[in-house]
Amino acid sequence: MIIRKAIYEASLKLKKNNIHTSVLDSEILMSKVLNKRKEYIFLNSEKTLNKENIDYFKNLINERSTGKPIAYITGKKFFWKDEFNVNQNVLIPRPDTELIVDQILKIYRNKKSLTVLDIGVGSGCILLSLLKEKEGFVGTGVDISSECIKICKKNIKKLKLNNKIRLFKSDVDNFSYGKYDLIISNPPYIKKTDLKYLERDITNFEPKMALDGGLDGLSKIRKVINKSSKLIKKNGKFVLEIAFNQKKKVKSLLRKEGFYINSILKDLGKNDRCIISTKI
Ligand code: GLN
Repeated sequence: MIIRKAIYEASLKLKKNNIHTSVLDSEILMSKVLNKRKEYIFLNSEKTLNKENIDYFKNLINERSTGKPIAYITGKKFFWKDEFNVNQNVLIPRPDTELIVDQILKIYRNKKSLTVLDIGVGSGCILLSLLKEKEGFVGTGVDISSECIKICKKNIKKLKLNNKIRLFKSDVDNFSYGKYDLIISNPPYIKKTDLKYLERDITNFEPKMALDGGLDGLSKIRKVINKSSKLIKKNGKFVLEIAFNQKKKVKSLLRKEGFYINSILKDLGKNDRCIISTKI
């Protein structure tokens, strides 16, 4: 079978299984099978595939048909300026979260050195992207999951940031190490009862631990705010990702802990997504 035909058939199968990006996904998985860039596929679409490649491709398409996200099949996801290693133990980095990186870089445009803490570091996408942009910034990442710590370590190595990041496997409640100029967190903030209404690809494949915000969606956010108010330096900034409908409650939690609200950022879908505050 030639490449073009294999992709065509695969995309029909994905479409039947309600995958909306069926052609794109088939092309990405073909790139993985052939270990080539996507351009190669277009330029060589008439080339015949060997049996081994056809079988491998079919397996990957079968996996994708179940709803398993492409990032978990390829083990990679591009975020900000780098490709991150991911697996099913970490949340897939989201384009909306890139806005946080962008905003922080704007705030600290003229800053040369800074200590940064990321609570719930996951794959490390936010912290590592920041530290790669700013040479003099050093970072600490905390995560309750040892599997996340493993993946994050891999990414630190990949981005060559070993000498300026330390990682701790810890629950936020039990972490009380250091004082920071900047604290960032993208904590689990989905209401427990809403988890089942997320898209199939998310509900069935992404780690519940990274999404589940307890009964009111705020249980982890509360912990992160309380702890941050102790770990942050005076005048330090706190950047927190939230759900579209949590602004009011989170603002009041922050104020109670002595934070001044600087601004609310909207995401690509124009929903409130991130609160920036300062410890006073
Ligand atoms: N900090 C990581 C991210 O932004 C993990 C977040 C999470 O698992 N809730 O992707």
